[in-house]
Amino acid sequence: MSHTSLRTAIITAARSLHERQLGTGTAGNVSARIAQGYLITPTGVDYETLTPAHIVSMDLRGNRAKGDLKPSSEWRFHQDIYIARAEVSAIVHTHSPYATALACTRQDLPAFHYMVAGAGGASVRCAEYATYGTQALSDHALAALSGRRACLLANHGVIALGADVAAALNMAQLVEELAKQYLLSRMAGAPVLLGDAEMEVNLEKFKDYGKQ
Ligand code: 13P
Ligand code: ZN
Repeated sequence: MSHTSLRTAIITAARSLHERQLGTGTAGNVSARIAQGYLITPTGVDYETLTPAHIVSMDLRGNRAKGDLKPSSEWRFHQDIYIARAEVSAIVHTHSPYATALACTRQDLPAFHYMVAGAGGASVRCAEYATYGTQALSDHALAALSGRRACLLANHGVIALGADVAAALNMAQLVEELAKQYLLSRMAGAPVLLGDAEMEVNLEKFKDYGKQ
């Protein structure tokens, strides 16, 4: 994908956070890997007014391209994920309501539904709390994302990873959907959790799910 179409894909994804009810205002951010670093939404700019020229080009040492707007305040975790996770080419961060509600209890999303395996493990972990935009938040997020494609951020929101922007956005939506189902299930009683062995089976099955 050319850098121009990647910039457009980032803007489309940022706008669809609103359409998919994964957040309002400038909550959340979106990035995509490029050869020398990554492209990311600027901090605090209304998604409706974004143009490709507003998308910030970053290297992997915390520098933005000359003349670019300021990057998302969360550039540290975007950078650290691209450095640590070679298979990740896009990142979507949200404050989606159900997942954030769960994250405010600082609990993991457990194996209450087989689709939890879609995020890469037997749970979606909740990272330890740290102030937004800090290196500590990035460190906690990286730990919670170990072996996974998503995590919750305590008292904050969600990070979702993907091989491209569409996949990262879909992962953010999956986490929101699961958090909603989990909270509803808890209202109905005590969800019965799937055991580790059954989640291992689901994780294996997911490896070729949808492949013809
Ligand atoms: P930015 O506008 O700086 O990306 O901040 C939004 C956010 O979600 C911070 O955690
Ligand atoms: Zn945030």
